[in-house]
Amino acid sequence: MSLRFDLASFEFNASAITPTASRSRRFIILALNTNYTCEQLLCDSAGVVLVISEAEVNALPLTLASEHFLGQLNDEDLWARVVTVADAPPGHQWFGLRSQLELVSPEAFQLAGRALQIARWFYDHRFCGRCGQATVQDTFDFARVCQGCALRFYPRISPCMIVLVTRGDEILLAHHHRASRVMYTTLAGFVEAGEGVEDCIRREVREEVGVEVGRLHYFRSQPWPFPGQLMLGFFAEYEAGVIAIDPTEIIDAKWFRYDELPQVPATATVAGQLIAHYVGLRRAINHKQ
Ligand SMILES: [Zn+2]
Repeated sequence: MSLRFDLASFEFNASAITPTASRSRRFIILALNTNYTCEQLLCDSAGVVLVISEAEVNALPLTLASEHFLGQLNDEDLWARVVTVADAPPGHQWFGLRSQLELVSPEAFQLAGRALQIARWFYDHRFCGRCGQATVQDTFDFARVCQGCALRFYPRISPCMIVLVTRGDEILLAHHHRASRVMYTTLAGFVEAGEGVEDCIRREVREEVGVEVGRLHYFRSQPWPFPGQLMLGFFAEYEAGVIAIDPTEIIDAKWFRYDELPQVPATATVAGQLIAHYVGLRRAINHKQ
């Protein structure tokens, strides 16, 4: 029996430089589907993502497709190992990253997300989109480099703002078409080419709910690898306008008092954290009065 890796406590330092010294290696295992996506993670019988030793991974009946160095994990090297899709070995299961969101620590979720994004980046950029020639791995950088025209391809990260519009004791939440269940959440949108994140917030809020916002307060960010967003969380103070929803994106949007909230996202997401943080602030303010 081997010791299980502790998903609650570890130190990780991302690195692009493949180590030359032979150190002990650990692996996150991903399944390569026929359409070259790497969305499934090897999990244990409880559905928790595995970060396993080289001896453990080599004992499993899995066929290697590629390996990608991710960085230093405690005193070991962490790799993503992509295997050709197969039935999960006995005692194991394949699950997507979303299943891990409330199951493992935020740090472990981020680690599995990095494995998934790096593997996907490799398969997305094996050939140059400009001249069509094969790419090779850069020695020092997380980049695939075209052998024909030297164009570089980095893992693609898309900045995306996520905003909680506030008005004193009230917050503006929307029920989106894309939601799989009735849940009210913050507004979000991708930053467009040539746009600052602040411009994006004002534009998206105006487009989605017809409201103007004033002061913005940055909260925190969260990598959201579905496939490569970086969620930038903000609070925005209401300034003017009445709610007029964009029906192509939103089913309903309303002002909710902080102590009378509908079903909202879990605090594992930055949306849930924005809401929980603001609720805490209003509670403290109203408690003092
Ligand atoms: Zn090229």
